[in-house]
Order: sequence, then structure tokens, then C-alpha cells
Amino acid sequence: MVLYLKCPECAGEMRYDRNIHMYVCTRCGLALTSADRDRLILEQRSSLYSDVNSEDEKRRKRKDYLKWWLSDKKE
Ligand SMILES: [Zn+2]
Repeated sequence: MVLYLKCPECAGEMRYDRNIHMYVCTRCGLALTSADRDRLILEQRSSLYSDVNSEDEKRRKRKDYLKWWLSDKKE
């Protein structure tokens, strides 16, 4: 599956450039690393499903906190 990535600057299409191992905007030339791209995909997805995602995020944070709290208690 090819994920269409929108440029955060101009909303143009971003393509992977094998030579520099970065994603480059075909319109403005903005270059992103794969880590930047992953974060961007998450942001774009969460803006599409903001309600669902923020709930998931909250739930995950609560779970992480609980895990940390429980492990701390055991020591
Ligand atoms: Zn761009």
C-alpha cells in the first residue's frame, strides 16, 4: 500500500528519493526524513480521526501510567 503523503508546507505530493533517503515534496522541494514522515502520517491521520485518536491516546497514556505506577509499587 502506498501512502499518499501531503507536504506540511504546501500540501503538495511527497515522494521518496532513494539517493538521499528522504521524502521530497514535488512542489516546494521540502525534504523529510523517514522519522519526520512517520510523525507527519500520524498527525495527518489523527486530524482525520481526531476524536477516535485522542481517545486512544488518552487510554494509552493512562495504561502507561498505570504500568509505571504498578512497577514502582513492586520495588
Ligand atoms: Zn511542499
